Amino acid sequence: MTTSQGTFDSALLESDERRALRAAVGDLGRRYGRDYFTAAVRAGKQTDELWREAGALGYLGVNLPEEYGGGGGGMAELSIVLEELGAAGCPLLLLIVSPAICGTVIARFGTEEQKRRWLPGLSDGSLRMAFGITEPEAGSNSHRITTTARRDGDDWLLTGRKVFISGVDIADATLIVGRTEDARTGKLKPCLFIVDRETPGFEYRQIEMELGAPEKQFQLFLDDVRLPADALVGDEDAGLLQLFAGLNPERIMTAAFSLGMGRFALDKAVEYARTRQVWQSPIGAHQAIAHPLAVAHIELELARLMMQKAAYLYDAGDDMGAGEAANMAKYAAAEAGAKAVDQAVHTLGGNGLTTEYGLAALLTASRVGRIAPVSREMILNFVSHHTLGLPKSY
Ligand SMILES: Cc1cc2nc3c(=O)[nH]c(=O)nc-3n(C[C@H](O)[C@H](O)[C@H](O)COP(=O)(O)OP(=O)(O)OC[C@H]3O[C@@H](n4cnc5c(N)ncnc54)[C@H](O)[C@@H]3O)c2cc1C
Repeated sequence: MTTSQGTFDSALLESDERRALRAAVGDLGRRYGRDYFTAAVRAGKQTDELWREAGALGYLGVNLPEEYGGGGGGMAELSIVLEELGAAGCPLLLLIVSPAICGTVIARFGTEEQKRRWLPGLSDGSLRMAFGITEPEAGSNSHRITTTARRDGDDWLLTGRKVFISGVDIADATLIVGRTEDARTGKLKPCLFIVDRETPGFEYRQIEMELGAPEKQFQLFLDDVRLPADALVGDEDAGLLQLFAGLNPERIMTAAFSLGMGRFALDKAVEYARTRQVWQSPIGAHQAIAHPLAVAHIELELARLMMQKAAYLYDAGDDMGAGEAANMAKYAAAEAGAKAVDQAVHTLGGNGLTTEYGLAALLTASRVGRIAPVSREMILNFVSHHTLGLPKSY
């Protein structure tokens, strides 16, 4: 170890390999850049060129097992990919669901057949998978979901409603969280099903959102949708375990999403504050402008440390330890990201709200991390009950 900051960082936190990945993904993101991303959004298109190239370079499946075409890394690597693409102005939201949640669940619990069917495609990006747990009547209370599967011969019949499911139109399938009846106790237990987009009876309707993102959100309608026996992921009795295996990656990746967006906005604000001059010195010399930007930088850095801790614990196989850290990382990054965007918009004055500078659209997009996949209040509930041992109000 030397006293140089760079060497210290790499010894303590990020290996040279990961730093190289960070730099290479950042180069790719900047090559496409924010203009490419916003042009796609305005044209109602997807960022398919970027998705394909990131897939060909091995970035999309960097967390998935090598024997199925992945990079053999973990959430540490995949979160780097999303953060750096976001910092370059090109966040790929589907990274949160396709390789992180669905890829992880299938890699850890899928049958051999499911792994061979899905993992190579999720790794190179030729296949995409959405994830559906949220229901209109359950919301934050996922214990209340009612989407139910019942046996019909060897098949399953799946019935229920889902809401706010991202990317269903571009995903080859959606991993749906439902319930089945326990034959012994009669109680409903969670189960995961892979539902191909073209399955008869699987209907989806777009929800108009004010997000300025290429990926859209959908309501799902399933009425006795017939699924083959092998649509069930893994073991019928291990659904809860399988579900939790996917939720930690989801939180870690949502943290990466918020961090990338916050960094992108902060960079724009700093660049502007350095050069915009309306008195004797650039506005960045006024501490009322400089200090909040410095605070935003500090808070983003702190949130990244927590995200790295969560990824480290998850990749080391400590699902319980990762649960608390992933929740805290998602909370910290969402708050830091939303504050950074807000301060960036303010720094640009009127230009903060112009289409040309492109920051105002991030005001809504940056709030997603505060709501999904689990709201800030539910994380504060988790920390107050589980970490601090305080009583529950609900
Ligand atoms: C852009 C976007 C993409 C999404 N993508 C997906 C997806 O791909 N798949 C998917 O399954 N879901 C997705 N979601 C859904 C998301 O996970 C939910 O919106 C989220 O879990 C909150 O549920 P809700 O919207 O029903 O809010 P509600 O549960 O109705 O909550 C409303 C408010 O009440 C608060 N609240 C609720 N209960 C409590 C309590 N006990 N204590 C304190 N406060 C409480 C919440 O914090 C929130 O502020 C997405 C949402 C968005 C906005």
